Amino acid sequence: MGADRLPTGIASVDRLLGGGLETDSVTEVYGEGGSGKTLFCLDVAHRVAQEGRWVFYIDTEGVSVDRLRSIAGANLEKLLKRFLLSTPKDLEEQTDAVRTACALAREGRRPVGLLVVDSATAYYRLSLSGPDEDDARQALSLEISDLVVTAMRAHVAVLVTNQVWRSIRDGTLEPVGGSFLNHAAKTILFFERLPGPRRRAILKKHRDRPEGSADFRITDQGLDGGSSA
Ligand code: ATP
Ligand code: MG
Repeated sequence: MGADRLPTGIASVDRLLGGGLETDSVTEVYGEGGSGKTLFCLDVAHRVAQEGRWVFYIDTEGVSVDRLRSIAGANLEKLLKRFLLSTPKDLEEQTDAVRTACALAREGRRPVGLLVVDSATAYYRLSLSGPDEDDARQALSLEISDLVVTAMRAHVAVLVTNQVWRSIRDGTLEPVGGSFLNHAAKTILFFERLPGPRRRAILKKHRDRPEGSADFRITDQGLDGGSSA
């Protein structure tokens, strides 16, 4: 039997995922800059908070409140009461933020519907090819393990975003986070930029769904995946 789902509210993506994000595993979204990863995280977070459940949101880009304002409008203050937002400034702070969020989610005092790390790999990437590369790799692996265990134990959807690099060999866009993240995530979505506000989510990995894709558009109010019929 498949896991429970958290609807994203983006109709085409929910169809692709068989109802939404799994609530006992980690979902990874990777794609190039501007492909809509952050907007997707905020859209799902908005929906979860609107329904009265908590969102633990780790934002390494420092942009989430402004963006959330345009999605939530006058409801922003109310929504933020259901947000535990942290804005780490380096990988060490990110590791602490993930540890705290996971511990709180597992403690279960607040009904948590979603845990987001956007971006999981921005700081990690800065350490690659430098003297701290091994430490960074280890820190990221521990974070991801913590998130995997938390998703299972606290029954919470975990959404992490990942950046890309372009393969010199064949020009494809590959996720940065290394094989550890790609093994740990039970669902992997690749976001592709199409002309204008159009974007495509391509399902690269799932436990019980076939490969496929879902189109959606970026609008002032968030992401629109068409009608749910
Ligand atoms: P990064 O890897 O740089 O963090 P990302 O994948 O998180 O990128 P987002 O920040 O979610 O990308 O997406 C921003 C994209 O959305 C930009 O391409 C921007 O032009 C587009 N965008 C933002 N608002 C609108 C809008 N109202 N209508 C159309 N496109 C919009
Ligand atoms: Mg982003």
